[in-house]
Amino acid sequence: MQTETTRTPSGIFVLGEMRNGHIHSVTLELTGKGRELAAARGCTVTTVLLGGEFKDDPADPIRYGADRILAVNHPSLEHFDQEIIAKVTAHLIETEKPEIVLAPATTAGRTYLPAVAALVNTGLTADCTGLDIDPETGLLLQTRPAIGGNVMATIKTPNHRPQMSTVRPRTFRIPDPEDRTGEVLHPAVPERLFASRIRNDGMEYLEEQGANIQDLDVVISGGKGLKRPESFRLLQELADLLEGGVGASRPTVEAKWIPYPHQVGLSGKVVAPKLYMAVGISGAVQHLAGMQTAQTIVAVNKDPEAPIFRVADVALCGDLFDIVPRLIERIKKEKRS
Ligand SMILES: Cc1cc2nc3c(=O)[nH]c(=O)nc-3n(C[C@H](O)[C@H](O)[C@H](O)COP(=O)(O)OP(=O)(O)OC[C@H]3O[C@@H](n4cnc5c(N)ncnc54)[C@H](O)[C@@H]3O)c2cc1C
Repeated sequence: MQTETTRTPSGIFVLGEMRNGHIHSVTLELTGKGRELAAARGCTVTTVLLGGEFKDDPADPIRYGADRILAVNHPSLEHFDQEIIAKVTAHLIETEKPEIVLAPATTAGRTYLPAVAALVNTGLTADCTGLDIDPETGLLLQTRPAIGGNVMATIKTPNHRPQMSTVRPRTFRIPDPEDRTGEVLHPAVPERLFASRIRNDGMEYLEEQGANIQDLDVVISGGKGLKRPESFRLLQELADLLEGGVGASRPTVEAKWIPYPHQVGLSGKVVAPKLYMAVGISGAVQHLAGMQTAQTIVAVNKDPEAPIFRVADVALCGDLFDIVPRLIERIKKEKRS
């Protein structure tokens, strides 16, 4: 059998996401990760942008690691149509033959990528939390939680091409932009691929209430240790002082102490703020999957053995009802002076 090390590397595709004509940040996160993998594999990174009218410069991802951009503009790509985007993406994959395809595990990505995988006859590893190149075989190592999130599994795709993975937004950091050169190409796509059996009766974008915790530099999250829903007010006060927002563990959401958009973790959001504070959260692997890329992690827990302390940069061991009010008072005092 031919191994990846003897095969000529054929490049990495990053499928970008366009929203209302703008390049979504997950595109840059995946382009940066693609660059790292390409360095290990000795190949190029191509970022694919499919949309109607582009309001951002399609060359933008070059500064974040792309060597080439494949940009396809067509009125039928203005709004998300699963059938069209899947057919056009499959066409580009079949023409360019990348060995790896990275794509966002957003609502759109989750909807059309299984169809792409079926069209090009390969597998798809969804919601990866880690990606690497096996130095022995050159294969893509696709790591993701499995069996209800209780183990981390590393999946390989040895027999089919491309190796396709989706990754949730904020799983990887956007790298610092660099002064790089690359080319923007507009490949020809057969007009028949823009036909769809789906009738679009209109599109409505729902605004989330309050700021999205994924966009904030400071997230203060609470867990079951808060004991009652009212305790979230304490965290909100701290978050307001630090110009941040409030996150939560799953059991607090299930208990209806706080709405679902605040949930951090495997079945919630992935956040990567400058400061993440876990208050009364034990640090289960499913929670860590949503916050471990934060720059600084502060944990408040009364149990010195709590797993959250293993990932924390600052460990505050004690009663949160004592520690958090003292922190609030201290910050207020600092602000006054
Ligand atoms: C498929 C699957 C998906 C999941 N997805 C998610 C997810 O997205 N997000 C998520 O969070 N969980 C998720 N979970 C649940 C996860 O396994 C844990 O059950 C959950 O994270 C625990 O929440 P917790 O830390 O708030 O509660 P607990 O585990 O009960 O921890 C409470 C902590 O508070 C501390 N504490 C108690 N009182 C105080 C006090 N007065 N002062 C200081 N500390 C105190 C305790 O020492 C303890 O460590 C998922 C589980 C599965 C199976």
